Amino acid sequence: MTPVETEFVTWLLDRIPADPRLEVPPGDDAAVLRPPAMRRTVVTVDMLTEGVDFILGPDCPPRAVGHKAVAVSLSDLAAMGSRPEAVFVAVCLPQTGGDVIARGLLEGIQSITAEHGCTLAGGDTNSWDGPLVVSVTAIGSVPPGRAWRRDGAQPGDLLVVTGACGGSLLGRHLAVQPRCREAIFIESRFEVHAAIDVSDGLSLDLSRMMQASATGAVVRLANVPIHADARRMSLLPGDTKSPLDHALSDGEDFELILAMPPDAAHALMAAAGQAPLDLPITIIGEVTAEPGLIAEDVDGTRTALAPRGYVHAFNS
Ligand SMILES: [Mg+2]
Repeated sequence: MTPVETEFVTWLLDRIPADPRLEVPPGDDAAVLRPPAMRRTVVTVDMLTEGVDFILGPDCPPRAVGHKAVAVSLSDLAAMGSRPEAVFVAVCLPQTGGDVIARGLLEGIQSITAEHGCTLAGGDTNSWDGPLVVSVTAIGSVPPGRAWRRDGAQPGDLLVVTGACGGSLLGRHLAVQPRCREAIFIESRFEVHAAIDVSDGLSLDLSRMMQASATGAVVRLANVPIHADARRMSLLPGDTKSPLDHALSDGEDFELILAMPPDAAHALMAAAGQAPLDLPITIIGEVTAEPGLIAEDVDGTRTALAPRGYVHAFNS
């Protein structure tokens, strides 16, 4: 390690509070976790790259990047119905300004891990002649056999969405609020057949869940929860999408789509409005045996709904 790195690591370790889940805390060659009794371990990893997922600047300081990097991984834990336990963060810092960036990142990481009751259990810091890269590995836990999957939706299930969708580029794509508390609450009280989080677009992620389940879906367009940001965005000069289009196809909402038996979906609706479900919960349609997505208009007219959203492109 370079002197600067040693100094940084010492500074960092001083700022990580002790946690009973860690038998060996950060600072050793590896961390040792005490897994919660009678629970399965859920693991997810995600990587954010400057220039692709964010651009550092006045609207996006390092602290916001630290928040987002952890938040998107916690959203994946929520989509599995699991409880966040620990995160590991690997960063590649640009050589210029790396120290200030690292300290900002840590602020963002520590505030969101504290908010969701998980611990920063380890990581790695490198620097290079390139943009900032942040990779987060998140560890969650769930009772045996209870993890939500994408492939369990059944014809007749109702499709439930948390919150509202669209227009996240106006700011919510950075200030991501992963639905962890909501997921833990729902998992412990209601039957959920399948789940996914909306990272790339409501219609695209719904189609992924339906494909995994070998089912299709009818989406009642009038019921799709449209975020105020989607309405604001569609009014911007040059924007050609309707608020509904934004809600169906914008990425990074990080809401949950759940396929639930009708009784469970209605019971969940009845429980909404009080903590920790103090956000809109909406039934947007139902699962069908016929594959593909169908959009149903207010007057009952049905047309094919093409899944749209953000897809990472790469060449072969
Ligand atoms: Mg996901």
